[in-house]
Amino acid sequence: MAGRIYLSPPHMSGAELSLVQQAFAENWVAPAGPHLAQFEEHFCAYTGAPYAVALVSGTAALHLALMGVGVQRGDEVMVSTLTFAGSVNPIHYLGALPVFIDSEPRFWNMDPNLLEDALKTRARRGKLPRAVLPVHLYGQAADMDPIRAMCAHYGVPIIEDAAESLGSRYRGEHPGTLGTAGVFSFNGNKIITTSGGGMLVSGDQRLVEVARKLATQAREPVPHYEHQEIGYNYRLSNILAAIGCAQLQVIEERVQRKRAIHAVYQAQLGALPGLTFQEEAPYGRHTRWLTVLRVDAAQFGMDREQIRLHLEAHNIESRPVWKPMHCQPVFQDYEVVGGQVAESLFRDGLCLPSGTALTEDQLALVTGLVRRLHSHPAVAFLRAR
Ligand SMILES: *Cc1c(COP(=O)(O)O)cnc(C)c1O
Repeated sequence: MAGRIYLSPPHMSGAELSLVQQAFAENWVAPAGPHLAQFEEHFCAYTGAPYAVALVSGTAALHLALMGVGVQRGDEVMVSTLTFAGSVNPIHYLGALPVFIDSEPRFWNMDPNLLEDALKTRARRGKLPRAVLPVHLYGQAADMDPIRAMCAHYGVPIIEDAAESLGSRYRGEHPGTLGTAGVFSFNGNKIITTSGGGMLVSGDQRLVEVARKLATQAREPVPHYEHQEIGYNYRLSNILAAIGCAQLQVIEERVQRKRAIHAVYQAQLGALPGLTFQEEAPYGRHTRWLTVLRVDAAQFGMDREQIRLHLEAHNIESRPVWKPMHCQPVFQDYEVVGGQVAESLFRDGLCLPSGTALTEDQLALVTGLVRRLHSHPAVAFLRAR
């Protein structure tokens, strides 16, 4: 749609086409090729992950990561409730049962205290979860030290959903590289994109090699087609990996721009009554993949939805914070530990346009609309109609 301001659209660096052309010239229009290997190599170099396999999506990466730590039918997996369904669907693919853990109120990621309660209860009952799956939300790492200590204590592997947090840091390290396995997404709205794609990383070479095999229909390494187990068609194509190679070169620029956009929102809106932003945790860099606003309707004079509709009337896309998984009809039968923090974030939270290609004028338009909504609510609404 012409002129529309999107939440987080793709932002090409300009180098993608030449790499794709190179792949075409060498006829690597295949689900294998040099760009694929290079994308994995460069991804490892950037994140410090020892091993990586590039896949068709973050969801596929999670599916294979869960298989990699042995999740089976009837097992429990403890997962953040405040997340996208892509974090949870793969648990269901395996017939396993999600146990939803609420967020902590300051930084919004999995609450280590609630996780500890849940693990203790399970330990008493004698059946621990097969995995713990913290999500690094909106560009900010979860507090991994206490989560790692607890999981080490109980011997439960951690799979990190870092789909939204490439480029962020946790005590100097990359979220996604702190557990047994980590997954990333290159969907069109993520901080870098291959239009669609994902990455599974691990320090366990075997886990990654098993995933690589499962991702290519579990073909045995013999000349004919031999299969001893059920596989998937989950490998990223070489063409898309070429896009990924170019995108990865600008990841640090993208993080800087996301943070600069956030700083503008903070400066323009942060002092208005009732508006607050997701706090940056002291333990590491928030990428501000999305800038997320919390709206106290009583103080601001309008609620989150009124702001969203007002922006929408001006052809500006904003979105409510993720609807918690324990509130989703499809997952309503599963247990949730806590839940009120995530529910209140869904009620009050609004993701603002955060695309790295946003111009200063577009940013000023968005902040101006929100500011006027506060100072002249009636006038602002009339103009929109
Ligand atoms: C985007 C996303 C996914 C899924 O990634 P896809 O590449 O779209 O499959 C999983 N978890 C979270 C938290 C995400 O934001």
